[in-house]
Amino acid sequence: MKKEIAGVTLEVVQGDIAKQEDVVAIVNAANAQLKTGGGVAGAIHRAAGPELAKECQPLAPIEPGEAVITGAHNLPNQYVIHCLGPVYGRDEPAVELLADCYRNSLQLAEEKKITSLAFPAISTGTFGYPLNEATEVVFTVISELIANLNQLNKIRFVLFSDSDFETYKHKLSTLTY
Ligand code: ADP
Repeated sequence: MKKEIAGVTLEVVQGDIAKQEDVVAIVNAANAQLKTGGGVAGAIHRAAGPELAKECQPLAPIEPGEAVITGAHNLPNQYVIHCLGPVYGRDEPAVELLADCYRNSLQLAEEKKITSLAFPAISTGTFGYPLNEATEVVFTVISELIANLNQLNKIRFVLFSDSDFETYKHKLSTLTY
């Protein structure tokens, strides 16, 4: 599903973050060491190939809320923005740190003149952030910043499971701006 706000198309799709051919950049739900792992980071590093880990190495470690940008290597995109979400129940304040991930990713995208970007649901897998609460944070940040985006004209949210996809679709459909 799609919705246009302030000249930016917001999309919610179900699928694999490593298979988003038609966006300039994808966001990685990274670990502090910027290494491969399970979930999103595993899928991205597998598809990108070992050169991605090499490019990441000197940029690590990163802090919760921080984002860094690299090339995309064998992925069908130009860039990967790696951000470290908070571990729910450990990294506080969780809302601010998760919001920082999205803010910092959007800022990096703008700096690099990236026109389209796809996000996974950062922190909602291994890091245990409840999907509903995370969705609130995501759409609050988007509503706050969307009018200030000059380069980005498409932001896609890629959800893996049926229920996460439904939650995001509902949130986008009820988003008031
Ligand atoms: P984190 O460590 O930040 O919690 P995870 O990668 O464990 O990150 O999970 C984040 C979210 O991404 C979870 O909701 C998970 O179901 C989902 N996910 C896992 N693999 C993929 C993938 N290949 N593409 C998109 N989303 C994925």
